Amino acid sequence: MNGPVLELRGVSAGYGQTTVVRDIDLQVAAGEVLALFGPNGAGKTTLLRVGAGLLRPQRGTVCIGGEDVTARPPHARARRGLCMVPEGRGIFPALTVRENLRLQVPPWLVGPDLARPLGAFPILGQRMNQRAGSMSGGEQQMLALARCWLARPTCVLLDEVSMGLAPRVVDEIYAGLRQLAAGGVALLIVEQHVSRALALADRIHVLDRGRTTLRQPAASIDRDALVRGYLDGGDPPSSPPPSPSSQSAPRPARNSTAH
Ligand code: ATP
Repeated sequence: MNGPVLELRGVSAGYGQTTVVRDIDLQVAAGEVLALFGPNGAGKTTLLRVGAGLLRPQRGTVCIGGEDVTARPPHARARRGLCMVPEGRGIFPALTVRENLRLQVPPWLVGPDLARPLGAFPILGQRMNQRAGSMSGGEQQMLALARCWLARPTCVLLDEVSMGLAPRVVDEIYAGLRQLAAGGVALLIVEQHVSRALALADRIHVLDRGRTTLRQPAASIDRDALVRGYLDGGDPPSSPPPSPSSQSAPRPARNSTAH
């Protein structure tokens, strides 16, 4: 596919009369990973919700594969390949792993291929008849990703996938994400584990109080400078210099985990 899989153009959005994010431009191409950083309350989840169709923007447009889907509901976007893994995972805790996976398969897909998600997360194969809610947090997150994988997405929006998980489990989750991206899926990730996200991402955006304050290739980001500027209120990332699209320095996010 030429052009971005997901594109937000001039998006402003919020709740009721309140505008939370303003004039956001964002693109993610096939196989690309864009990491969205920012302090708590910056509007990261709000942007993901706009992308997924859970929140109608006050201004601007959302396109999937070049098609304007701003007015389209979440299920219509899912049909166009968009999948969101929300914070809290969005699985059905009272259902078994098998039932969770079966529910995910859209009727228009025939012969869903379980091999890839179960290859990435083999523990799920041993848990097929277990209630999802009785599994560990890591296993639940793997199930959320496996469900997403089954839908054969072109773009996945991920909100804090590593939250509260042990490093070994996060390794597995990120290996799965890497496989998804290598298979051509566009990923937009919101992640407090800065090092993890930087290691996976191609590009980063930083949001502060609803505005984009930095856009940069991940490879050109000095991790420590980003963490200082992003977490501790120190100097903004300064080495190498920000790209022409950068607007200003990120502001502190004091409760983020700088791993
Ligand atoms: P965090 O890292 O804490 O999850 P975030 O960057 O994802 O933060 P959002 O969750 O998008 O930020 O919240 C942005 C702002 O919108 C916050 O001030 C929040 O209180 C507000 N907000 C979020 N959801 C709602 C809602 N359903 N109704 C009203 N205000 C909301």
